[in-house]
Amino acid sequence: MIRPLRHWLHARQHPLRYAQLDQLLRNQSLSREAVLKKQQDELAGIVAHACQHVPYYRERFAGLDGAAFHDLPILTKEAVASRLDDLLSDDADRAQVKLGHTGGSTGKPLAFWYDQAKHELMRAGMMRGFMMSGWRPGQKVMYFWGARHDTRKGGVFGGGWGDLIAAEKTITAVEYSEAKLHEWARAIQTWRPTLLYGYASAMSELARYILASRMPMPDSLIGVYSTAEMLADSQRELMQHAYACKVFNQYGCREVPNIAWECRHGHMHVFADLVHLESVAIEGEDRFLVTSLTNRLMPFIRYDIGDSGRLLDGECECGSPFPLMEMGMCRQNDLIRTRAGKTLHPACFNRLLYGMTQIRQYQWVQRDLTRIELNLVSAERLSAEVAATLQAGIHRDVDAGMTLEIRYLDEIPRTAAGKHRFVIGMG
Ligand SMILES: [Zn+2]
Repeated sequence: MIRPLRHWLHARQHPLRYAQLDQLLRNQSLSREAVLKKQQDELAGIVAHACQHVPYYRERFAGLDGAAFHDLPILTKEAVASRLDDLLSDDADRAQVKLGHTGGSTGKPLAFWYDQAKHELMRAGMMRGFMMSGWRPGQKVMYFWGARHDTRKGGVFGGGWGDLIAAEKTITAVEYSEAKLHEWARAIQTWRPTLLYGYASAMSELARYILASRMPMPDSLIGVYSTAEMLADSQRELMQHAYACKVFNQYGCREVPNIAWECRHGHMHVFADLVHLESVAIEGEDRFLVTSLTNRLMPFIRYDIGDSGRLLDGECECGSPFPLMEMGMCRQNDLIRTRAGKTLHPACFNRLLYGMTQIRQYQWVQRDLTRIELNLVSAERLSAEVAATLQAGIHRDVDAGMTLEIRYLDEIPRTAAGKHRFVIGMG
């Protein structure tokens, strides 16, 4: 089916999504100043709504009339889990409201309220994000999705004949055998999508397989989107090599989607018409606090999403009015701690393994302050010399008293949502 026809049919099937996309594209054509002004207005609107209609905020914001936004209390994941009912707006139509679930990078499941309009807005936001790569509605996107509940019919990326019109194909990426990887690579070759979208770990494992088996990727590909996990530089390079196209990072979570998208110039732009993002020093980290500007059903205000990073000044050559940000470290529970009180970024550990192409999967697990484990799925065992170099690297970069234990596994277990965690700290 040709792209314009598919686009037309799809727009007829999802009028709300396309109307929202039109609005989002109009926002994108505003000046930086106008975007920020609109953001401030919407921020005030969402706080007022929360005070008036949401029991949790009515209680938490009591007596804070006139307080500056950055003095409002932070919303923690614990509060989302324990006060779920009180976070639903009292003017919500309970018959229309659904409960979504996220495995969360922390492995702790979290539930959140959403409805069809929120879902459509999420998809519209994703479409605008994809358009930053040069993709146009109607062009094919192949999703590699780990969470089983999302690939069921009626889930976020539900299948069915609608996929034909939508130019979408969803692959359930929970099992990573060589046979599966071969099947996925073949699917890309024959279906010839314009974009791929999936977890950094899934996309890079597939990239490794593609390079090892010398399977050429179709020239239809213009971008690969990495989401939900930290994207290491080494993974980005591997993927760009295998798929022979640009890799784009994307930041957001199920409960607050579309926080930031990478443009063709390699910068992450905060979708400031959908969210307000702060970077606040908490426990020695620059922690992101996100506020959804659109979610009146279940407002997320100053939500501690568990990631860190910085907001950047300046403009990007791509011309987007949306401000810039930079992902920091990672999810907070993936940090490794030392006896001296240092906190180390997972990238330090990932770097130690650069160039070891025999390794298919790995995971660092800190057991206590003096013990770290390296779980490997590897074509062959590391030589004694390589193992000694790794131990020396740990002594040099981490802690002179930390011992390394290397274990060989057939498979590294994933989180409930199918994510792969490269580094697991003591929490
Ligand atoms: Zn840009």
